Amino acid sequence: RILITNVLDPVKENVRAIAMTIQDITREVELNEAKSQFISNVSHELRTPLFNIKSFIETLHEYGDELTKDERSEFLDTANRETDRLTRLVNDVLDLSKLESSHTYLFDAVELDRAIEQTLRTYQLNARDKGIELCQDIEPELPSILGNYDLILQVLANLVGNALKFTKANGKVTLRAHRAILTPEVGDEITSDVVRVEVVDTGIGIDPEDQQAIFDRFFRVENRVHTLEGTGLGLSIVQNIIEKHHTQINITSAVGVGTTFWFDLAIYQKQQIQQVEDLQLV
Ligand code: ADP
Repeated sequence: RILITNVLDPVKENVRAIAMTIQDITREVELNEAKSQFISNVSHELRTPLFNIKSFIETLHEYGDELTKDERSEFLDTANRETDRLTRLVNDVLDLSKLESSHTYLFDAVELDRAIEQTLRTYQLNARDKGIELCQDIEPELPSILGNYDLILQVLANLVGNALKFTKANGKVTLRAHRAILTPEVGDEITSDVVRVEVVDTGIGIDPEDQQAIFDRFFRVENRVHTLEGTGLGLSIVQNIIEKHHTQINITSAVGVGTTFWFDLAIYQKQQIQQVEDLQLV
């Protein structure tokens, strides 16, 4: 691109047009490559549970009579778990694909306390079963934020689901929301008033070298905790939704101590309803 710019320097408008075209093509090529890579990863991820289910069915079919009742039931349980895994995978892939298409989401006033309470109700039983305390810490009279309720709910569900998955019995998971004022960067005169949402757990933590990779599709930290549960797509979905809210997902974590995922959302100003049309994101 530098070479072209130098050669065509006298006709500046043309230079810009050509440089943009090259940029567009590069982006298009990158998009296509990312899509093929994604399809190849999805196919690979789908094949494993499908292969397992088929093997279990075949074994039961051929040797069912020779197996004990307990063995048969163990085979069926595993096949059932694999089917659940397949369902989760297909749902996550569909969610991600919808988020990345040019679907329009309505942005409106969202009461975060309502979304947090709904998330807690959904996960309370699961937490109790695991012996984990699941609680909320919401600042009183929290202002509404500008966002999409269903998408925010999906972010909270994914983060709380993970927090419960990677926290042991007697641990604690807290959903926090409070007002925060962002300190301006140097030279920036505007301070913005936001609501900060935090999902705090006292779980296994994430090694600093894995903290960026966990947002990559299908990335899962090598460990023996719940190897079957999860698709490695949850945090990619979270990141995508948070970016649609023009902000970013942050992480603070220490191995053996716990993890906090947090993000800031803009406070809703009256009459502020936005149709957010997103560009294709990869
Ligand atoms: P998964 O379906 O495996 O949970 P995610 O994309 O949601 O996929 O998360 C990717 C990986 O990040 C997880 O497999 C886990 O290794 C790590 N991770 C996510 N949340 C936490 C957490 N709260 N504590 C520890 N590790 C986590």
